Amino acid sequence: MTMTAAKAGTDPSPRDPLRMFIGGEWTEARSGRTFDSIDPYTGQAWAQVPEASAADVDRAVSAARAAFDEGPWPQMAGVERARIMRRLARLLEENADELAAIEVRDNGKLLREMAGQAALLPEFYDYFAGAADKIGGEVLDSAKTNFFVYQLFEPVGVVGAITAWNSPLMLVAYKLAPALAAGCCFVLKPSEHTSVSALRFAEIVAEAGVPDGVFNVVTGDGPSVGEPLVSHPGVDKVAFTGSVATGIRVAKAAAEHLAPVSLELGGKSPNVVFADADIEAAANGVVAGIFAACGQTCVAGSRLLAERPIHDELVERVVGRAQEIILGNPMDLATEMGPLAFAAQWDKVMGYIDVGNGEGAELATGGCRPERFGDGLFVEPTVFVRVDNSMRIAREEIFGPVLSVIPFDGEAEALSIANDSPFGLAAGVWTRDVQRVHRMVPRLQAGTVWINAYRTINYDVPFGGYKMSGHGRENGLEGLREYLHTKSVWVEMSGATRDPFKLG
Ligand code: NAD
Repeated sequence: MTMTAAKAGTDPSPRDPLRMFIGGEWTEARSGRTFDSIDPYTGQAWAQVPEASAADVDRAVSAARAAFDEGPWPQMAGVERARIMRRLARLLEENADELAAIEVRDNGKLLREMAGQAALLPEFYDYFAGAADKIGGEVLDSAKTNFFVYQLFEPVGVVGAITAWNSPLMLVAYKLAPALAAGCCFVLKPSEHTSVSALRFAEIVAEAGVPDGVFNVVTGDGPSVGEPLVSHPGVDKVAFTGSVATGIRVAKAAAEHLAPVSLELGGKSPNVVFADADIEAAANGVVAGIFAACGQTCVAGSRLLAERPIHDELVERVVGRAQEIILGNPMDLATEMGPLAFAAQWDKVMGYIDVGNGEGAELATGGCRPERFGDGLFVEPTVFVRVDNSMRIAREEIFGPVLSVIPFDGEAEALSIANDSPFGLAAGVWTRDVQRVHRMVPRLQAGTVWINAYRTINYDVPFGGYKMSGHGRENGLEGLREYLHTKSVWVEMSGATRDPFKLG
């Protein structure tokens, strides 16, 4: 055991420096070095995490490679893999409170948010366990009738996974649950801001009976650990969640050995409210879209497109609710917004507030660090109005509680503004007009569209981006296909001798 984390309701701090999980063993970094994990609410170090290097990555990839090439996991009957995954799901249920508390200490998000995510984790493993014994293959009705032709779906091999800090174990579940079902082996590098939950999770994976080497965790930063992982020739597929800039670097590094990459990147998602919408529901959805999780969510509805006849009333409602948001300790269930996750993130968000002021947008509320938290990493819920879609606060991902409100007239202008973005992750549309809904949906350039709702995601619904928000899909059966190769098999049945110089 690497850590002695306390149970629900008590302090989950590990007492000793943590260790990584490689080939079924708990191990320090080769260098022996560790780094501090900082609790963003207290500003104090609360755990020591191994600082891995390329040598540790090589150990982890070799362990995963051996487990894939020689181990039982890919050859095991799907029903048996499913049984182990369901055991993992039950253990995650038993440990949900503790995992949620660890995540709050790591990234400062609300306990009420992280407890919800921890409660959902088992369902990812249950859902994909249900697919593990149904992968099989397919007989093809080929026009080449002298052949019996079929397809096999096979695990892609060793997966190198890199995740962001904002929903740590859920982003792992998006990747690991389908990869395990497919029969893949896995090396995870969690964000350096949120390594602790990944290491506690590894203990639970081992307890569930996942064979040694199938799941490995290496900890450290992007350049020293992430880059060697995606560049490693022993990695067959890269699964990445993070920013666009890093995603591009990751894709380039993986291209050097032609590993396929799935990229779940950032967004600048429009939340479009028409004059005929239920304005109370829409205002609530706008608040959920940008102030939940302090706006530190890839699908944040950070651009509010408001139709002119209801613009002022909607802004008034959203600003009113923003001013009532309860800021405080993320462990307190009454709190609605906690601190941002780390100091650089706070600097970035405050920097964008300066940009918005400088660009001539009008600050309707917020924009400051609330005085009562001293130099804590808090930012007031912030709303800019009179934003033009060409401003930086409308084009760049802020990843904080900052809303840009843009007025529009009619459907055509709404679509044009919504799609005028380098990103295409998600969009919300609020209207009572069902015909409008069906006109809008096919024209919106986004991987997810919510109608009269915002920020709903589930394990059984594909999720991913258009444009600079990435490619590939996670969740649903489409998420499983990311971890499968297709092999076509031709069995000659006629026994005839064919012309060796003719195709077919
Ligand atoms: P980030 O790009 O800074 O880091 C993401 C991960 O990449 C971290 O583990 C980091 O250590 C690693 N990394 C950094 N440099 C690397 C390199 N050169 N090679 C390999 N790995 C490297 O992003 P972040 O700040 O952790 O997360 C926030 C971003 O993630 C936002 O843009 C957000 O929109 C996005 N995100 C997207 C989704 C989605 O599903 N689309 C979900 C959550 C977050």
